[in-house]
Amino acid sequence: MDFFKLKVMNDFGKVFLIGAGPGDPGLFTLRGKAILERADVVVYDRLVSPSILAFCNDKAQMVDVGKMPTHHKVKQSEINKLLVKFAQEMPGAVIARLKGGDPFVFGRGGEEALELVEAGVEFEVVPGVTSAISVPAYAGIPVSHRGIATSFHIITGHEKQDGSKEVALEERSSDGIQASSIAGLDFPALAKCPGTLIFLMGIANMEMIARRLMECGKDPKTPLAFIEKGTTPYQRTVTCTLETAAETITRENVVAPAITIMGGVVELGDKLAWRRNLPLSGKRLVVTRAAKQASGISAKLTALGAEVIETPMIETRSVEPRVGSLDGAAANFADLANFDILAFTSTNGVESFFDAFFKAGLDIRALAGKKIASVGKITEKKLLERGLRCDFVPEDHTGEGLGKLLAEKCAESRILLLQGNLADDTLTTFLPKATRWVVYETLPAKTLPDWKLEAVGAADAVVFASSSAVENFAKVVQHGSVDSQAELDSASPNLAPRACFSIGRMTTATAKKYGFEVVESDETTMDSLVKKIAEYYA
Ligand code: SAH
Repeated sequence: MDFFKLKVMNDFGKVFLIGAGPGDPGLFTLRGKAILERADVVVYDRLVSPSILAFCNDKAQMVDVGKMPTHHKVKQSEINKLLVKFAQEMPGAVIARLKGGDPFVFGRGGEEALELVEAGVEFEVVPGVTSAISVPAYAGIPVSHRGIATSFHIITGHEKQDGSKEVALEERSSDGIQASSIAGLDFPALAKCPGTLIFLMGIANMEMIARRLMECGKDPKTPLAFIEKGTTPYQRTVTCTLETAAETITRENVVAPAITIMGGVVELGDKLAWRRNLPLSGKRLVVTRAAKQASGISAKLTALGAEVIETPMIETRSVEPRVGSLDGAAANFADLANFDILAFTSTNGVESFFDAFFKAGLDIRALAGKKIASVGKITEKKLLERGLRCDFVPEDHTGEGLGKLLAEKCAESRILLLQGNLADDTLTTFLPKATRWVVYETLPAKTLPDWKLEAVGAADAVVFASSSAVENFAKVVQHGSVDSQAELDSASPNLAPRACFSIGRMTTATAKKYGFEVVESDETTMDSLVKKIAEYYA
C-alpha cells in the first residue's frame, strides 16, 4: 500500500497541510515527519522551528512564506496560488505545507484547502498540536479543571484581512458593541463566559481586549498569564490580572508569539509548573559535526535545555572501495577470501562497505568464518544491525586500543581495514601488514539552505570539534560559500555568532584566526566540552 496515498486521480501533485505543533520537535506528529522526510517541496511559515525543518530531506525545495510580525513576506492569496501551482506543475510530487500549531486553528488552512478543492488538487490534513492548549500545558496550566473551569474558548486577538493589513478588533466608534462585532467578537458574551479564555495573537490588542472585557463585566481580578515562545527553550510565563494586563505587557516586554490565558486555572500554574529551567534554557547553539556524529553531543546539549541547530561542516560519501587510498586501485571483492579479520573504525565505514558489498552482488554468506573487529560500541551496534557480532572491541574505544588489541591477539592474521580517506595511520602503525580499503570519502560542506543560515545567524554560539570545521564554517556561513582562500579574504562576513566553544588547542587557534571569541574545553572530549558549555552559561 502506498503509505502516502499518492495515487491521485489526476496528473497533479498532492498537498499535505501539516501542523508543525508549537515548537518542541518532540510534539510533531509521526505522520508529519514521515511526509517531510519524503516531500519534494516544503512551503513553511515563520513559526515553524528549525528543529522541525531539519526533518526535511536535503533535496526538498524549501519555500519560506514566513510572515514577520511587521511585514508579510507572502500574501495569503499568493500562498494559496503557489500551492496550486506546485501541484499542477509537479505530477506525483509530495508538497508539504507546514504551519505552526494546527493548520485549522487560526492557521488559515481552511482557506488553502478551499483553493485546492477549487483547482481540483488533492490534499490531506495532518493535524498538529495546537499552541492554544499545549503552551499552557507546558506552563503547568490545565485549560480545564474540575471545579474551576468546565469549558475553554480559543479566541483570535487579531482578525486578518487578506493581504497585508491586520485589523484590530475594534475600530473606535461611539458604539463600542457594534465596533467589536465588526470582527465577530462578542465581548459581552465572552465577559459572561465562566470558562477559560485563551487568546492567540492577542498581545498587540490586549489593552483593548482587557478593557472591553472589564467594561462588559468581567472581574478585573481574573488571573491572567502570558506564555511566550511556549514549548521552546525560550519559554517564559508572565502572570498578572486582567486589570494589569496591558501595563504588564509593557513592563515585562512580552512579545509574540505568545498565548494569553485568563481564568482561575492560571493559578494552578503556581503549583504545576513542571518545566524546570535548565542550564542551557534559552540558548541556541550551532553544532558543526558531521550529521551522523552530531547526534551524541546534540542530544546532550538538548537535554540541558539548549536549542541545537545541527550544521555539519563535512559530509561523507560512499565510494567504490579503493586499495590504500582514494587514488589506489579499485578493490576486488573476490579478494575478501584472502582476509581473516575485517576491522571497522566508524559507522560510516560499516554503511559504505555494505553499500558496495551488496552492490557487488554479495551477501552476508561471503563473510562466513571471518572475525570482525570494531573500534567501539556504536560501530559494534551498527554491525550487529547487519547481522554480525564483533569478536574484538578494545576497552578504551580508540583506534590505538584496537591496533594494540589486534597486534597482540592476531599478529599472524590477515587483516582488512575498512576506513574513510582521511583515516590517520594509527592502525597501520600497529598493524603494518594490514590492508586498507577506503570505502568512503569526507568532503567539506559547500552550502547551507537559507532557513539554516537564518537559524545560525540567530544563534548564541557555535560548537567546534575540529579546525577543519572552523575553516568550513568561515567559508560557508560567515562569508557565503566561497571556494578559495583569496575569495575568503576578500568576502565580507555574513551574520553569524562571534562566540564559540572549542574542543582543544588547535581548534581554538583556528577559531581565533577567524575572529571568534573562544571558550575552550578542559579536556579534548565531547563530555568535557558539553560540561564547559553548561558551566559557561551557569
Ligand atoms: N495554528 C496555530 C496558531 C496560529 S496563530 C496553532 O494552532 O497554534 C499564531 C498565534 O499562535 C501566535 O500569535 C501565538 O498567539 C500563538 N502561538 C503559536 N505558537 C506559539 C508558541 N510556541 N508559544 C506561544 N504562543 C504561540
